[in-house]
Amino acid sequence: MCSDRLVEGNQLFSSKILEQDPAYFEDLQAGQSPDYFVISCSDSRVSPSVISNSPLGTMFVHRNIANQVRKDDDSLAASLYYALVHLKVKKIIIKGHTGCGGVAAAQGGNEEPHLKGWIKGIKEGFSSQGYSADNDLQELVKANVKAQVEQMKNHPVYKEYGGNTEVAGYLFDLGSGKLEQLDV
Ligand SMILES: [Zn+2]
Repeated sequence: MCSDRLVEGNQLFSSKILEQDPAYFEDLQAGQSPDYFVISCSDSRVSPSVISNSPLGTMFVHRNIANQVRKDDDSLAASLYYALVHLKVKKIIIKGHTGCGGVAAAQGGNEEPHLKGWIKGIKEGFSSQGYSADNDLQELVKANVKAQVEQMKNHPVYKEYGGNTEVAGYLFDLGSGKLEQLDV
């Protein structure tokens, strides 16, 4: 998508909303109060608000390759703190997806210098659940979500400020378009 396409798409988006509710954006700038903090893969096909048909203001989102929760990730720690302390979200969602390229790279042992550090962590995640590169990708994708749910519950920021905030794992199936909650 080139930048002109972005601007054209946005004009369509904003004019459609304003047709129905002329005060929509004025109200929107008053502040946000999302119910969810979502950690999603960066994959261009799995945008959390698009696949859940959620309007603006519904979810505070953090995205990285293969929806990872890492203690040494300052960006995630800041988002998590903000979501819990300032936004007071009701639920934290780790959302993986079938055919995840990040998990596949960990399974295949990608050694590219700018990827391998991140990918090593993905492998540690599914390994912590008792899975290895010998399992099939679908199993590893689910094991990855479960590992990240555990890592969230053990994250220092969650432990200090999470209280009883629910942490759930979800899987988006690219082949069917369905989102399902995983048993974690
Ligand atoms: Zn992915």
